[in-house]
Amino acid sequence: MTVPTFDALLRDLRGATREIDATTLAHERQSGATPAVPAVIDVREADEHAQGAIPDAVHIPRGFLELRIERAVPDRAAPVVVYCASGTRSVLAARSLAELGYADVRSLAGGFTGWKRAGLPWEQPRALRPDQETRYSRHTLIPEIGVAGQLKLLGAKVLCIGAGGLGSPSSMYLAAAGVGTIGVVDDDVVDASNLQRQILHATERVGTPKVESAEQTIRGLNPDVKVEKHRLRIDSSNALEILRGYHVVVDGADNFATRYLINDAALRVGVPVVHASIFRFEGQVTVFPAGGSPCYRCLYPQPPPAEEAPSCAEAGVLGVLPGIMGVLQATEAIKLVLGLGEPLAGRLIVYDALKTRFRELKLRRDPKCPTCGDGVDRAAIPLIDYEQFCAGPARH
Ligand SMILES: [Zn+2]
Repeated sequence: MTVPTFDALLRDLRGATREIDATTLAHERQSGATPAVPAVIDVREADEHAQGAIPDAVHIPRGFLELRIERAVPDRAAPVVVYCASGTRSVLAARSLAELGYADVRSLAGGFTGWKRAGLPWEQPRALRPDQETRYSRHTLIPEIGVAGQLKLLGAKVLCIGAGGLGSPSSMYLAAAGVGTIGVVDDDVVDASNLQRQILHATERVGTPKVESAEQTIRGLNPDVKVEKHRLRIDSSNALEILRGYHVVVDGADNFATRYLINDAALRVGVPVVHASIFRFEGQVTVFPAGGSPCYRCLYPQPPPAEEAPSCAEAGVLGVLPGIMGVLQATEAIKLVLGLGEPLAGRLIVYDALKTRFRELKLRRDPKCPTCGDGVDRAAIPLIDYEQFCAGPARH
């Protein structure tokens, strides 16, 4: 018995495999169907794919083809075209797919080289760097996130209002998750009384502006993240300018005046707000969706009189409580960026740390709400500077 040479084997396989030329494939894919028909699978290695690929092709390196094809093309009767660089590996890949029961498989004759030579459009796929593949592997392993989701996170801009108790865990988890741009708004400096809960900061940075301290921690955790420092107090004169351009706002403000301002400015700009607040042993968290409702003013139409608002310096808070609420905020922000799951919109979660109990309250839009009610022109929502109830260095 003679073992066939690779060339002989390939010749036989070519004879048994249907091929398609680049121009015919391009023509077939012009039907406008989404996803495009036939499905095109790029079986080259990652470094080849990164150099350029057929638009909308699904990249499955040859070594993973059998493992991943079912997710990419669940229907084994669906037409599939596989391609490699020159049309050799794709012949082998086509045979594997036929063995798996795919009935309509063709190999792109001439491969990607032939496609380019025919002058057909191709694109440079965005890809993770090798160090990013490692860093974010526990994300990309989740089918609902994958490389595409991670790239989305890296392209996302999230604004954290306050680098305090809530802003610490939320910005750190957002940074760890690879949110590419994190804005931090805080005009304060690190105080020793912050360190019981504000884990962004450190003992040796007491006296340092919080935005500087935040940047140091965030960049130390993940150098992929760009920190946009806003060392100021947000008010009616700067709110719109600051919020514009961010995809999600994480509101970790410690006072009513800022919360109203964020709510009103976010409705003007059309950006969702992940809101949380904390008091002693109890925290609340909810999402005010972009362009939607209910909003913060549906919950609290007007600020309470100054004498009824608790002074943050005196109120006190269990140190771990903002950790829990801030991490819930980061979770909601990531879900919003990825369009995953059910956002916490129209629902308020109340967490009681003493009883270890989460309660969910339904929030309803108030048709008479001054900012999201019926007939309100959102572009004309006035921005109001309420009296700051909670000035001074002690903040949550
Ligand atoms: Zn409202």
